[in-house]
Amino acid sequence: MKRWRKRRHVSGSEAAPLTPDQVQTLRDRQDQTGQRTVRMFLLVFFIGALSHVALFSSLDAAHYRGIVLVSVVDAVLVAVAFLLILEGYETRGAVMALVVATLHMLWVVMQVSASASVESILFPIAVAPFLMIRREFPALRVALSSFTIGIYLVCEIAFPAGTGEHPLDGELADAFASGNRISAGIAVLAIVALVQVKMSATRRILEGSARYGELRATTDELTGVFNRRPIIAQLSQWAARGRGNYAIALIDLDYFKTINDEYGHDCGDTVIQAVALTLRSHFREADMVSRWGGDEFLVLMPGVRHADLLPVLDRLRQAINLIEKRCKGHVHRVTVSIGASMGAMGQTPDECIAAADHALYRAKEEGRNRVVAVGVSEPTHALGRPSPDEPVTPASGLARHP
Ligand code: GH3
Ligand code: MG
Repeated sequence: MKRWRKRRHVSGSEAAPLTPDQVQTLRDRQDQTGQRTVRMFLLVFFIGALSHVALFSSLDAAHYRGIVLVSVVDAVLVAVAFLLILEGYETRGAVMALVVATLHMLWVVMQVSASASVESILFPIAVAPFLMIRREFPALRVALSSFTIGIYLVCEIAFPAGTGEHPLDGELADAFASGNRISAGIAVLAIVALVQVKMSATRRILEGSARYGELRATTDELTGVFNRRPIIAQLSQWAARGRGNYAIALIDLDYFKTINDEYGHDCGDTVIQAVALTLRSHFREADMVSRWGGDEFLVLMPGVRHADLLPVLDRLRQAINLIEKRCKGHVHRVTVSIGASMGAMGQTPDECIAAADHALYRAKEEGRNRVVAVGVSEPTHALGRPSPDEPVTPASGLARHP
C-alpha cells in the first residue's frame, strides 16, 4: 500500500476577481439606468420648454428671442451637468447643475422685479445641495446652498422691486412669475429626484457586485460548496474567542485518480459534484461544507456532541458508498476515507486541521473506506492538542469506524 500524504496550504488565498463577462453585465445594467435617467431628464426639459413657449408667446419678438436663447443655453448646460453625473462625476455634475440654476435665478431677478417668482425657485435650489451632494462633502453642501441664498439676497438689494428699471417689468412680471413657478420649479425638483434615482441605482449595483464578489470569493466553482477562505476565517474567529466545542472532518475520495485516468477529468468532475451534493444534504444548516482541494472536502461542525460524531460520519461514508454516477457508459462508485477531530480550546486553525489530517492519514493507511476520529472516545483527551507526530492508539483518544 502506498504511503499516504498530501501537502496542506492552510493560509489565505487571493479574492476571486470578477470575470470580464460579469463586469460587462454589471456595466450594461448601469448604462440602462443612465439611459432611463437621461430620457426622463429630456422629457422634463421638453415640458419646461413648451411651457415657456406658451407663457411668453405674447412678448415682443426681441424679448421672446432672448428668453428662448437663455432657456436653450440653460438646457444645454444642465444637460452637460447630467452627462457628467451619468459618467460617474456625480459631485461635479451636481455642482454644475445647481450653479446654472442659481445663475438662472439671478438672470430672472435682473429681468423682472417680481421677486415672488424667484422665491419659488430659490427654495428648491437652496435645498437641492443637501439631496444631490453626498454626505461626505458637508462643506460643499453648505457652500452651494449659501451661494444660492447669497445671490438671491444680493439681487434683491441690487435690483429692488418697483424701481421700474427692469427690462421685462410691468405686464410681463406676472407671466414670468407663473412661468418660473411652473417650469423652473418642476425642473429643479426633477433634477433632485433624478439624481436620487441615479445614485440609488448605482448604490444597488455596487452593493450587488460586492455581494457577488464576496460570494465568488468564498465558493468553490465546481461544486458550489464553500472554498477554504470562509473555513479559515471561521476557525480563526473561534480560536480568537477560545471556542472549543466543534469538530472538523476531512473527507477524501479513495483511488479517485483512477477515475480521471480511465474515464477522463470530466467524469472525475461529475463524481466530485455528486459527492458534494451528498455532503450538502447530509449535514445540518449550521455545519460548513467546503471543498478543501482536488478530491478532498472539509466539514466544520459547531456544537456537535462527541458521541454523535462517529455515527454521523459513518452514515455519511455509507451514503457516499451508495452514489452511482453514470459517465461515459460506466456507472462510477466511490468510497471515502474520513479523518475527524474535536476542536480544543486554544488550538490554532493549523493545529486543528493537522489533527483531522492525521486521522485521515490513519484511515488511508488502515485500508480506506473508513472513519477515524481523534479525541472522541476520551473527552478529556479531546481538550488536548493531538500532534500529527504523536503515535495514536485507541487508548490515546483514537476511535475507528468500521
Ligand atoms: P487516495 O485514495 O490516496 O486519496 O488516492 P487518490 O487517487 O484519490 O489520490 P489523491 O487523493 O492523492 O489525488 C486526488 C486527485 O484528484 C489528483 C488530481 O489529479 C485529481 N483532481 C484534483 N482536482 C480535480 C478536479 O477538479 N477535477 C478532477 N476530475 N480531478 C481532480
Ligand atoms: Mg483521494
